Amino acid sequence: MDTLLKQPEVKNFINGKFTENGHNSMNVISPLDGSIISKLPLSTYEDVDKAVNAAQDAFKEWSSRTLKERVQVFFTYRDLLEKHMDELTKLIQLENGKTYGEAKAEVEKSMELCEFAVSMPQIVVNEVQEVSKGVECRIERKPLGVVASITPFNFPNMVPHWTMPNALVLGNTMVMKPSEVVPLSTMRMAELLKEAGLPDGVFNIVNGGKEVVEAICDHPKIMAVSFVGSTKVAKIVYKRATSSLKRCVALGGAKNHLLVLPDANPDMTASNVVASMSGCAGQRCMAASVMVGVDKVQHIIDKMVEEAKSIVPGKNLGSVISEAAKNRIENYIAEAESNGAKILVDGRNTTVPGKEGGFYVGPTIIDHVTLDMSVAREEIFGPVISIIRAKDLDEAIEIENGSNYGNAAAVFTQSGGMAKEVINRASAGMIGVNIGVPVPREPFSFGGWNESKFGVGDITGRSSIEFWTQNKKSTTKWNPEAQVNWMS
Ligand code: NAD
Repeated sequence: MDTLLKQPEVKNFINGKFTENGHNSMNVISPLDGSIISKLPLSTYEDVDKAVNAAQDAFKEWSSRTLKERVQVFFTYRDLLEKHMDELTKLIQLENGKTYGEAKAEVEKSMELCEFAVSMPQIVVNEVQEVSKGVECRIERKPLGVVASITPFNFPNMVPHWTMPNALVLGNTMVMKPSEVVPLSTMRMAELLKEAGLPDGVFNIVNGGKEVVEAICDHPKIMAVSFVGSTKVAKIVYKRATSSLKRCVALGGAKNHLLVLPDANPDMTASNVVASMSGCAGQRCMAASVMVGVDKVQHIIDKMVEEAKSIVPGKNLGSVISEAAKNRIENYIAEAESNGAKILVDGRNTTVPGKEGGFYVGPTIIDHVTLDMSVAREEIFGPVISIIRAKDLDEAIEIENGSNYGNAAAVFTQSGGMAKEVINRASAGMIGVNIGVPVPREPFSFGGWNESKFGVGDITGRSSIEFWTQNKKSTTKWNPEAQVNWMS
């Protein structure tokens, strides 16, 4: 099926305008049915340079506004997201393949992120103290200048909002590089920001792949780089950006463990675990990937199987992002099976009537997984959960601690003591108790541990304020007493 240019051609957005360019391009494909929906330019260092220069020119005026002035744009922008909710939701669905409800939840989360950004004047209050008679020290938060944000395919609308609103209201200007497989939502974001009154050059988009990312890491006028994507690329970006002396926070992949204890509420646990592993087709960095069943939990596993079998791909389960992703996920399942694991629910060879060209994998539950299997250790990024059996909580925590990743971990139990033990001992940045997707909401910050995040601090919430600003310290004296002070 080829419905080329169903959507407008993707263009870079520089200095408030969509710009033509004569580069090589690649197709944008809808995973819902495999059709070609647009074309995207593969930009180069020169394009990044143009965007950076536009951002640098805009910085002077934008950063000279007060914080209270800058947030006004985002009150309007947040309302535009609400006004265009249905259209933005359908755009996410088209380019990413998730269900309508999941896509709508993304836009709602973007609104919440803007609500945090507009609250900055209440949070970012400078510090001042009379440190000795007549002498005052003051700390003010100042923007960095031109900053960059590089985003992944799995949340085309929400992840760009993790960085853009906070970085801009704090006075920076930005160059964003969206995932080349889902560029449409970011283009629409640029239009709505302009409609909300954001001055030209404050927000710019450069589309493309690796070459754009490398140019961002190397560009001498970019002061900070935030990255969200796989661990492999997070390491590349973190090393390259910091070696060119930028601050960088790079969020990577995940392998989240849910520890299920025998006393857990069976219905609630089964539905939470299945929702966590299958929501957004398992393409969430917070998705459950391993369930560690402690002692006697067969009754809960039976309920999970029932729950997973009631999910209908194409109706309440979206597609995965590409044919390559579908093949990768199915290969993981096949490998586990050939190594002796038991497939309780098998999502391979799933097709959706009327959308035969789409990339669907049904929910999959694999039991009796052992630690030597790749499904126990590697990020699968599909609607698949591997069940590992443990004799007690100590063994379960040891399994969780053995992962290279550390985004999320959760425990299902009715015992406060057991839950506390997991909170204390799990090696992950975000812990859930009876919650399968433990995303901290603003003002709390989002970020993992180990190979799920490189750099200091988190990407959202209060922690992001530190990342997007630098402190200016001034020491002043004006009055006569200070003239005899030792600091004079
Ligand atoms: P990805 O790493 O393939 O791509 C992310 C970005 O990096 C894209 O913009 C892409 O163009 C660029 N890129 C890809 N290869 C590159 C290379 N060799 N050099 C330089 N740049 C390169 O990730 P993805 O497939 O788009 O997204 C899925 C991954 O993102 C998963 O691993 C998921 O866990 C992770 N993720 C993590 C979080 C988190 O908060 N930790 C959130 C969302 C997604």
